[in-house]
Amino acid sequence: MNTLLELKNIYLTYQTLTSETKAIENVSFKLNEGEFISIVGPSGCGKTTILSMVSGLLKPTSGEILLDGEKVTKVSTNVGYMLQRDNLFEWLTVQQNILIGVKINHNKNCLTKDKLQELITKYGLSGFEKSKPSELSGGMRQRVSLIRTLAISPKLLLLDEPFSALDYQTRLSVQNDISSILKSEHKTAILVTHDISEAVAMSDRVIVLSKRPGTIKKIIHLDFDKKLTPFDRRNDLQFNKYFKLLWEELQ
Ligand code: ADP
Ligand code: MG
Repeated sequence: MNTLLELKNIYLTYQTLTSETKAIENVSFKLNEGEFISIVGPSGCGKTTILSMVSGLLKPTSGEILLDGEKVTKVSTNVGYMLQRDNLFEWLTVQQNILIGVKINHNKNCLTKDKLQELITKYGLSGFEKSKPSELSGGMRQRVSLIRTLAISPKLLLLDEPFSALDYQTRLSVQNDISSILKSEHKTAILVTHDISEAVAMSDRVIVLSKRPGTIKKIIHLDFDKKLTPFDRRNDLQFNKYFKLLWEELQ
């Protein structure tokens, strides 16, 4: 399998006028093409900081990040970033929201309007193209947000607690949706979450960070049948074993 992303001995210290905060210390890991990993760890341990560095928004204090063999030095359309709040523009329609990244980037790799319409239909949003975000359910909004992120054809998707604002029922169904969309579009992704069960339900591997400054405490490979959806995994015998393992790591 090809390595898509590599973090090599990453350190990050936030500097302000009066203080220094060590956020990340000696973090190294690789991510293969098509793989889905989660990063879990206590609040404030540096999860978002790692994503910010991978996206090119923040430069590591030391160490190197390679995406597809090239050093990450700035923000690019190679990386799509999806946040906890869906950040949809309320005054734009679903279709306009989805196209906004394509319009800004003029990237030749961006998905065509036809391909986007196909995604809109495939993922249950047809008939809502002209609707405003306020007319959609929480789950639909997250799907719009994901399709908008996919529209620029990123090689890597970063998901920062994208489900935490949703109620429990919706969260389970959106986890299923997003997982099946990412699988069928053959996307590589990093999910940041503080929800252990979400990490177990969705990932191939889970990276556990220590409390700040974040270092890698453990990496756990999840060995579920490939055919299982996140929802199926929750009913699989192995689910509790992995949940307990992560729970203990995080104590
Ligand atoms: P997490 O996403 O795991 O909750 P963050 O990556 O947001 O954690 O933050 C890690 C640590 O770095 C926290 O202690 C936070 O207070 C600090 N931090 C985050 N952003 C900044 C910043 N811009 N300036 C100074 N400190 C920051
Ligand atoms: Mg965070």
